[in-house]
Amino acid sequence: MPDAFDGVPLWILKATVLALGATFGSFANVVIYRLPLGRSIVYPGSACAKCETPIKWFDNIPVISYMLLLGKCRVCKDPISIRYPLIELSGAVLSLACLLLAINVGFEVADLAGLAVLWAFFFAFCFLLLVITFIDLEHWWIPPSLVLPGIAIGLLTNILLGDLTRVSWLDALIGMVAGALPIWLIRVLYFKIRGHEGMGLGDVFLMAMVGAMLGYVALPFVLLAASIQGLIVAIPLSLKKKISDPPWEPEEGHEHQETMGKTAVPFGPFIALGALQWLFFGDAIAALLFQF
Ligand SMILES: [Zn+2]
Repeated sequence: MPDAFDGVPLWILKATVLALGATFGSFANVVIYRLPLGRSIVYPGSACAKCETPIKWFDNIPVISYMLLLGKCRVCKDPISIRYPLIELSGAVLSLACLLLAINVGFEVADLAGLAVLWAFFFAFCFLLLVITFIDLEHWWIPPSLVLPGIAIGLLTNILLGDLTRVSWLDALIGMVAGALPIWLIRVLYFKIRGHEGMGLGDVFLMAMVGAMLGYVALPFVLLAASIQGLIVAIPLSLKKKISDPPWEPEEGHEHQETMGKTAVPFGPFIALGALQWLFFGDAIAALLFQF
């Protein structure tokens, strides 16, 4: 791996994408909080959830402000959820991982601008997965306004950069369809057998997004990893709670929630987890699997 690109040292690139990633993580917090409420994600600026005091820029620096404020609102001292700095930190870590991935697949051919484009596509995918994960955890709902652009990003990445991602446009197209199909079938079957939804339409779109980005080759791993890791979390939870109704109240406009599942956890976050594992460790995973 070269230690500079177009004369820019690697450490400066790393610092830049860490800061960018944390900033996008901060924006992810806004989207996660406001999108399900149908509120604008650009206006107004952030405010304390308790006392509604607008947050000044110097109290809004990702991760750092949380630590300086000791996790409390400057005005009303109400505790700020640890989720905010954690998501900012996740944004930073994912962003750095995307840079390393971009360098890994592209350093022989790409200049600085090329790397930036690769980083942007990878990070857009990760950013959407991050936001989808936390909205689904809280609301059991995957917004179409996130997964549909996600499908477009996946297809575009591989149409434009398929040589580098080693996912051809055809692999991506097949991945999109082959990702959606099994989940859609499970959804239909589950509904026939149990009389209520076990999989949301959002899960169908999310798998289409994952297939479009990672290609159909990734799908068996993503589904298997999502199911196993989902069960590892869901089984202890449902034993503890016995009746494991989702923690939400049905909301207007999200009618599917009223009939939806008796599972202990939503599936979307685990699809996202499996997809990230394949994106960053796919080569190692494939090498390991093909040994057997
Ligand atoms: Zn406050």
